[in-house]
Amino acid sequence: MRQDLLDLVCCPDCRGDLRLRADQTDPATQEILEGTLTCAGCGHVFPVEEGIPNLLPASLEED
Ligand SMILES: [Zn+2]
Repeated sequence: MRQDLLDLVCCPDCRGDLRLRADQTDPATQEILEGTLTCAGCGHVFPVEEGIPNLLPASLEED
């Protein structure tokens, strides 16, 4: 995912800002390949896997 996507997305649970922690970035494009997005509001953690942010609300994860 591109880092500037952070300006466009927010927490699906509380609409809070998301903070990015990048564990692995693409050296050519600077896109995040692996990492986590943490909500500054409710603290929910969303994984970024293979470049795809998984922004499912907590209510859907239990299904
Ligand atoms: Zn939240």
